[in-house]
Parts: sequence; C-alpha cells; structure tokens
Amino acid sequence: MTKTASIVGGSISGLIIANLLFRSGWKVNVFEQSSRQLSDRGAGIVCHPKMIKTFSKLGINMPELGTWVEKRVYVSRDNETNRYFEYPQLVVSWNNIYSALLDKFPREHYHLGKTLNDVTTQSNHIRAVLNDTENIESDLIIGADGIRSRVRNYITHANQPEYAGYIVWRAVSNLEDVSDIRKKQFTFYMDSNQQILGYPIQRNNMQSERYNLVWYKAIDQDELDRFLVDKYGKKHDFSVPPNRTNSNLIAEMLESASTELPHFFSNLISKSKAPFVSPVYDILTDRFSTGRVVLVGDAAAVARPHVGMGVTKALLDCVALHNKLEKISNIEEALSDYSIQQHRFADQIVNASRHLGSFIQKDQHSLNNELKSEEISYIVENTADYEFAIDKISDYYPRNSS
Ligand SMILES: Cc1cc2nc3c(=O)[nH]c(=O)nc-3n(C[C@H](O)[C@H](O)[C@H](O)COP(=O)(O)OP(=O)(O)OC[C@H]3O[C@@H](n4cnc5c(N)ncnc54)[C@H](O)[C@@H]3O)c2cc1C
Repeated sequence: MTKTASIVGGSISGLIIANLLFRSGWKVNVFEQSSRQLSDRGAGIVCHPKMIKTFSKLGINMPELGTWVEKRVYVSRDNETNRYFEYPQLVVSWNNIYSALLDKFPREHYHLGKTLNDVTTQSNHIRAVLNDTENIESDLIIGADGIRSRVRNYITHANQPEYAGYIVWRAVSNLEDVSDIRKKQFTFYMDSNQQILGYPIQRNNMQSERYNLVWYKAIDQDELDRFLVDKYGKKHDFSVPPNRTNSNLIAEMLESASTELPHFFSNLISKSKAPFVSPVYDILTDRFSTGRVVLVGDAAAVARPHVGMGVTKALLDCVALHNKLEKISNIEEALSDYSIQQHRFADQIVNASRHLGSFIQKDQHSLNNELKSEEISYIVENTADYEFAIDKISDYYPRNSS
C-alpha cells in the first residue's frame, strides 16, 4: 500500500523531504501557511562541499546557481586589509535553492495558504488540522515549519527559542558599489560586541548580482523590546517582518555604522535598500520525534548563523530521515532512530555556533576586553566552515557555550 506523508512548511526542508519521499513512491502533500510563493529568506547561503554533493544527487547543480568567493579578508577599522586566507566557497541565494526544489516537486501536491493548527492521533493514522476546519490523515506528519514550529508542540513544550544576546542587521547592496578587488571576497570586520561580514550573491535566477551584508551587534535583553516594534507601532513576539522595520531604528543604525565601521562597510550600508533587523535565537529540541510525528530543519534545531549550516543541516536531516524510512518498515522505529542520530549532529553544530557567537556576546566579552589578533583569525577561519561545525570546537579559546 502507498505510504502517505503530510509535510507542514513548504520552505527549504519541507521541499527537500517532499522531493525525497515523492521519488521513493510516497504520496506526499506539503502544507505552507503563506498564501504566496516564498522569497528572500536568509539572503545568501554559504555552501559546503558535502551540501553541493548531496544536492547533486537530487539533480540540483549548485555551482550553476551561485557565485564563488575566493578569499576571506579581514579589514581593519581604518579600512586596511590586514590579513587574508585563501578559502574558495560557493554562495547561492536562498531564492535559487527554493526555486530549484520547487521546480522538481509536483505543484498539485504543494498547497499554499494552509496553516496547521493542531495534530491529533487516530489509531494508525495521524491527523493534521488545517485552517481550523480541514482534517488530513496520513501515515506520518513531518514538521518542517521552522524555528517557531507548531508541530513541535505535539512532541514537547519544554523547548523554546533562546535569545543569543545580539541582533543582526541584514542589508543588500548593488555589486557595482563594491570595489573590484572585494567582489570575489568574503570580507569581515569585528570589534568587541559586534561583527560584520559581506559577500556577493546572485539573485533572481542569475539576473543580477548583489552584495549581502550581515551585521551582528550585542543588545541587552532589557533593550530588546525596541527591536520588536514595527513601523506601525505593533509589537512582535520574535522579530519584525523585513518590510515593516521602524525607520527610527534604521536611522540609528546608519548613524552607528558611520562611526563604528570601516568605510568599506558603512558606505555599502548607507547605499543599501530596506535594511532590516532581527534578534538572533537558537534552539535545540530535546527529541525530534514522537510516535508518527517528526521534525526536520529549523523546527528541530537552529544553530546561530555563524556556522552557516541552516540549509546543510536541513538537507542532512531530510536525507537521514529518508534513509531510515527506506530501511526500517516500522515508521515509529524509523523516526526514533532518526531522532537519536540527528540530535547528536544538531547538538554539535548548535554548540559550535554558540562558541563562535560568544565573541559577540556582552556577558562573554566585555567592551573593555578587546578582541586579540589571534581571536580575530580564529573567527575568520572558522565561520561557516563545515569541518569546524561538525567536528571540533577548538579548545584554543575555551568559553562557556551558552
Ligand atoms: C542571518 C541569517 C543568515 C543565514 N545564513 C545561512 C547560511 O549562510 N547558510 C545556511 O545554510 N543557512 C543560513 N541561514 C538559515 C537558513 O535560511 C534556514 O536554516 C533554512 O532556510 C532552513 O529552514 P527550514 O526550511 O527548516 O525553515 P523555514 O525556512 O523557517 O521554513 C518554515 C516554513 O514553515 C511555514 N510554517 C510555519 N508555521 C506553519 C504552520 N503552522 N502551518 C503551515 N506552515 C507553517 C513557514 O511559513 C515557512 O515557510 C541563515 C539564516 C539567517 C537568519
């Protein structure tokens, strides 16, 4: 008998697992709350060799979708390049990955405007309640519904996203505004309690090249509320949607960019369009499955962005889940095995990202305690490095990992 899966969330992890199961003969339906096709999440995604290889097995050629950076460069406050590492890395826009995955999945099984409200159990089947009225039964439910997962509530209420102690400003500039020498570089600057990086990205299916800017700044928890109020005065629980950023906050950010950052970065930020801000959160759910319900990608665990592992983790979670379902006929057992395996993996990368992020946190690194030169090299080398994220957290700079 054909097995059936309901996937909640039609973003990157939802589409990866949907494609994998569909190709194995499952009847798959994806339910996405947004009423329109998704766009522009995470801007530029840094790719790792393992990710490129795994996507190629799904028939997606990542090098065709992105652009290469050749070096990692650190610029000083007075705008001098004072160190660099040869480190070729492919960067692909979030949009290009999403479109490639969407193209491979039958549209009639991808349902927009469907919000999951609840999950209930019915003997051998599990039921998803959508838009308050529709009941969909299937053999399993996969929560690919991101950091604020509703599906996660069925598994546990114990874990909630935790604020990392800093916010991130994100902005995109035109590549023409970037000097030629920096166009193919991954450029960094950092100071106590802040870090900025920039790299080129291709957008809109290769039609234009842009430059992606990511600026982390430590903000105390009691000051955070200001960053959760949008331009209409509405307070949001986690973050303000990009198109609703408060203009006073943007003006304040531009002012600090002009006084705190090297000219290379402050100049690009001043020319960028529609910068937006979000608090940085992470989460590691205690377990990723119960019965016939399972979590993948950001719904299961989110590492802070410093390890650049969001899409890679989503991909590896989905491949691991698919493999278990292929090998183990008992669905509950397959999900439980998957959960144990991928929890170990997520624990490692969440801790690696906390370690790298600790150099920004105020409680870990006070304003009077300037970053040492070797600390800067350590961060530049290990940011978005796959081996660092999965393998080792160097004990060269031991820090508490929270
Ligand atoms: C600043 C920043 C930089 C990043 N840089 C990188 C990088 O360099 N490399 C990298 O790999 N990753 C990066 N990421 C992370 C990456 O974008 C995500 O990890 C990745 O998109 C996987 O997400 P996901 O599909 O699991 O969840 P999401 O993309 O969050 O998707 C969840 C989906 O579920 C839907 N949904 C939610 N609730 C419901 C519901 N109740 N019913 C129906 N649908 C629902 C949502 O609308 C959404 O479409 C970055 C993220 C940030 C913030």
